[in-house]
Amino acid sequence: MIDTIKEAFNPITFQNALAEIEQMASVSEHHTDGLSKEFELLREISVLKIVLPGEYLDFNKPNTPALLTLLKDVGKANLSVGRIFEGHINTLYLIHLYADEDQKRNWFEGVKEYGHLFGVWNTQAQNGIEFKSIDNKLIVSGNKTFCSGVGLVNRALITGNINHGERAGWQMSIVNMGKISDDKVNKEIWKPLGMKASGSYTVDFSGYELADSELLSKPGIYLKQPYFSAGAIRFAAVHLGGAEAVAHNTIKYLKELNRTEDPIQRMRIASIMTQLVAGQLWLEKAGENYDNWLENKEFEQNLIAFANMTRTTIEDICLRIMDESNKCVGARGLMAPYTLERIFRDLTFYLRQPAPDATRLNIADFFINKNSVSYGTNI
Ligand SMILES: Cc1cc2nc3c(=O)[nH]c(=O)nc-3n(C[C@H](O)[C@H](O)[C@H](O)COP(=O)(O)OP(=O)(O)OC[C@H]3O[C@@H](n4cnc5c(N)ncnc54)[C@H](O)[C@@H]3O)c2cc1C
Repeated sequence: MIDTIKEAFNPITFQNALAEIEQMASVSEHHTDGLSKEFELLREISVLKIVLPGEYLDFNKPNTPALLTLLKDVGKANLSVGRIFEGHINTLYLIHLYADEDQKRNWFEGVKEYGHLFGVWNTQAQNGIEFKSIDNKLIVSGNKTFCSGVGLVNRALITGNINHGERAGWQMSIVNMGKISDDKVNKEIWKPLGMKASGSYTVDFSGYELADSELLSKPGIYLKQPYFSAGAIRFAAVHLGGAEAVAHNTIKYLKELNRTEDPIQRMRIASIMTQLVAGQLWLEKAGENYDNWLENKEFEQNLIAFANMTRTTIEDICLRIMDESNKCVGARGLMAPYTLERIFRDLTFYLRQPAPDATRLNIADFFINKNSVSYGTNI
């Protein structure tokens, strides 16, 4: 059994692949093929299937701290790769939670046998998705925005409103991107500050005919708690990887310029590293709490509150680390070919995630509504 696992995922090969991905980052940002080489590498070293049954980080086992470390490491190498990879893991988790046995077999086999990459595209503008019943067929109409990894993703989980038979509400479905032609992808609209390589274009799904087997679970389940809110620790892990890259490159830059003896620079390095380690501790605890509390209804609100705090704290940590690093390296250090130029753009942009204010208000609600405020493990 252990031999199978070793064969499937080798941490050393993984670290080598990440080093290669990191090296390619400045070029792939401008490359027309986007991140195809990067995902070919991840596919080759069996990382795309790492959370499937029997694999190294099988979702059926309490592996969340290790999964978060993995996500952080990928984010450190390249935040855009981290974003797309996190979407893949997120989709496989939703399949693990909600798909029926036939769907699981089919979608998981796609990853194992063909190296399929998955993505979750929930965000939309005014012309969002509807699943319409037309001539006894279920037809998709509308667009999704911020579709990270279009062009690489083989199967995309999209959400939308459905009103068909007994189904009414916000429905998940998994569509075959092989059936979406290139002219349905709007790349013109993608002019971001950073994360250019994530290729998070707008996709028009209008006309796609959905099979029943492509509908995932019932309407409303996408938003089911604690999974919906607590899942934020996964993107927070990728964010922290970006902060780790900033810290690493800041110290490297100061060393190259022989500026590490300056006491003010040393103060800033101390602050950066203290913040980074604090983020790592938050993440570790968030992973442990996830595994310990998920099955216990009594701890559902604690789990959500802790995930919310992890997410917001890591956002603050990333911003503070960038602020200190900015002062450490100055304008020269923020110019290409120094990598900090790109990482700053990527991290600044990628930190903007849904409902940051509401998340903080929810944390306040949790503590206000609690009978006592303790600072132990069980917040
Ligand atoms: C690089 C990148 C990749 C992404 N990839 C994906 C993907 O693959 N799939 C996917 O589904 N999504 C993706 N997203 C979208 C992401 O999940 C968020 O939906 C998006 O980043 C939030 O955008 P926003 O900051 O413009 O949100 P907004 O909701 O506009 O928030 C901006 C600010 O306004 C505040 N605010 C929000 N609502 C109100 C209101 N009613 N009144 C007053 N203030 C308000 C917020 O608290 C926040 O401070 C991606 C985003 C990025 C940056």
